[in-house]
Amino acid sequence: FLPHLVAAMEEVEETYIMIKPDGFQRGLVGEIISRFEKKGFKLKGLKLFQCPKELAQEHYKDLQSKPFFPKLINYITSGPVVCMAWEGIGVVASARKLIGVTNPLNAEPGTIRGDLAVQTGRNVVHGSDSPENGKREIALWFKEGELCEWTPLLGPWLTE
Ligand code: UDP
Ligand code: MG
Repeated sequence: FLPHLVAAMEEVEETYIMIKPDGFQRGLVGEIISRFEKKGFKLKGLKLFQCPKELAQEHYKDLQSKPFFPKLINYITSGPVVCMAWEGIGVVASARKLIGVTNPLNAEPGTIRGDLAVQTGRNVVHGSDSPENGKREIALWFKEGELCEWTPLLGPWLTE
């Protein structure tokens, strides 16, 4: 038993989750938000937003050199997205598990992509891949005053 490792795993983190334009057009907004709500994470920011090209390019700048980059930018800017900031213990990795792997055909049943999508180019949702990127992406997509600090009354029933 290594208490310092447990402590490291139990860091409170933030992640940026985004319902992509296909998820929005397909009417999956409520379904997708529900999965994070039911898990017990804390919603700190939520908005419907038409993403400009420059923001999409900045968000996905690590993928700039990939052949699919232009298509990805067209996809993300093709209609409204739903931007969310979620907080919780281990929320970054846990959200990625709830979302499932990048290619929905390989995503496990029970995950969002595994249940609701069939193609990598239409995989309905984004989730940050590290706590650092969680912070970076929330700062990129939300302006000051758009995030809400609040105390969940259910707190003691969700975490000890
Ligand atoms: N993507 C794509 N083709 C690929 C790989 C990725 O269109 O071959 C898109 C897909 O929408 C994916 C996004 O680019 O969700 C970001 O890619 P990443 O590898 O970061 O996957 P994710 O973190 O979203 O699972
Ligand atoms: Mg990624």
